[in-house]
Amino acid sequence: MGPARAFKVVLCGDGGVGKTSIASVLAGAGFNPLQRLTVGVAHYVKDLQTGDGAVRLVIWDLGGEERFRFLAPVFLRGARGAVFVFDITREETFEHLEDWLDVTLSTVGDIPRVLVGNKADLEELRVVPRSYAELYAKRRGFLAYYEVSARTGAGLEEPFRKLAEAIAGCERGG
Ligand code: GDP
Ligand code: MG
Repeated sequence: MGPARAFKVVLCGDGGVGKTSIASVLAGAGFNPLQRLTVGVAHYVKDLQTGDGAVRLVIWDLGGEERFRFLAPVFLRGARGAVFVFDITREETFEHLEDWLDVTLSTVGDIPRVLVGNKADLEELRVVPRSYAELYAKRRGFLAYYEVSARTGAGLEEPFRKLAEAIAGCERGG
């Protein structure tokens, strides 16, 4: 097997939704309940096997703090896929997805994207119904909607697998 082809994938979403937690658990670094605010951009690597061969996702994670928002277009440039994350316990993080989608579409166009509702372990605090998120994902061209928990690790790989399959498939021309 040759070296895996590497693709840039970006994590989009407000500060505090769990982007850094998702990426670090996915990359094998574990969940840190005291996860600090990401400053600037951090990178994580996830290797996956797809129907079109081995794929390396290089996951870019931007600090969600308001003062880094101006970096979004720079951050997005060259992305081959995007994971949009919101927090199922905070409605505004769901509403702000539309802003992230606008800047993504205008910077890198209609790239493969998945929608992720994080903090599924906090079901009793849920304010965004699963059906809303599913409908939004369908309406706005996401490949699929997933609910995950960075804390328990539940469901974390599936959205990245879906994305890797789509990106590798595009690459092949399928
Ligand atoms: P980011 O700003 O989007 O990168 O979010 P962080 O990864 O820094 O997470 C923000 C806060 O939410 C931290 O206190 C995390 O420990 C917490 N957190 C992240 N994911 C989960 C989760 O799945 N469940 C719960 N209960 N807390 C989470
Ligand atoms: Mg972060």
